[in-house]
Amino acid sequence: MTPKKATTRIGRKKKTRQSTTRSAVFFAKETLGQKCARARKIDKRLAAAYPDARCTLNFKNPLELLVATILAAQCTDERVNLVTRKLFRKYRSAKAYAQAKAAIFEKDITSVGFFRNKTKSLLACGRLLEDRYSGKVPKTMEELLSLPGVGRKTANVILGNAFGIGGIVVDTHVGRLSRRLGLSDQGDPDKVEQDLMPLIPQNRWTIFSHLLVFHGRRICSARKPDCPNCLLNDLCPSAFGV
Ligand code: SF4
Repeated sequence: MTPKKATTRIGRKKKTRQSTTRSAVFFAKETLGQKCARARKIDKRLAAAYPDARCTLNFKNPLELLVATILAAQCTDERVNLVTRKLFRKYRSAKAYAQAKAAIFEKDITSVGFFRNKTKSLLACGRLLEDRYSGKVPKTMEELLSLPGVGRKTANVILGNAFGIGGIVVDTHVGRLSRRLGLSDQGDPDKVEQDLMPLIPQNRWTIFSHLLVFHGRRICSARKPDCPNCLLNDLCPSAFGV
C-alpha cells in the first residue's frame, strides 16, 4: 500500500466517523414529531422520484419469493434472478425442495455465494413447510422466523411483498441511508427497523424500504454519495459531509 493511499483511506474513515457522529447528534436533538415530519417528506420526495421502486427479485408466489430472498443473501438480485429462472421451473412446491438431493441442488445454485449453506437452509425449509405448514409459506413474523435461513429481514421481505403486510426491510442500503439521514443512530439492522417503524405509516413500510434501496443504489452510494444532486440534501444532516 502506498503512503498516499493509506492517507486517503484513513481520511475517508475519519470523515465517515465525523459524519456518523454528526447525524447521531442530530438524531438525539430532533423531537420524534420533527423526525416523523421529516421522514414523511423524505418518503414523499423519494416516491415522486422513483415511481418504479419495487422488489427487484423475480417471483410469482410466496414460495418463490422465500427461495429468492434466501438465495439473495450476499449476492446480487440480478444473479439470483438468473439462477431462479431455471430453478423455479424445476422445483415448483415445498415438497420438491424437501425431496431434493443436496448434491444436485448445490449444482443448481452453484453460481450464488454460500451455495452449500443455502442448499441446507432451502431443503430444510422445504421439509419444515411440508411438516408444519401444509407446504404453504406462513404469514406471520413468528412463524416465518421458525424457518431455517429466515431472519427478520427475509421475513419482512416476504410479509411486505408476497402478502401485502407492511414490513421494513433493513438491508445494507436501508441501514446506511437511515443513519446518514439521521432517522436512526443504530448499527444493528433490527434496531434500525425499530427506529423507522414509528416514523413511517405502516402501509408505507414496504415501499419506503424499496425507495431507500433505489436511492442508495443511484445517488447515496456507500463510497461516493452524490450530495449536490440529491433531492434530499436539505433534509439530510450528513449532506456534503459524508
Ligand atoms: S444528501 Fe448526501 S448523504 Fe444525504 S441522502 Fe443525499 S446523497 Fe446521501
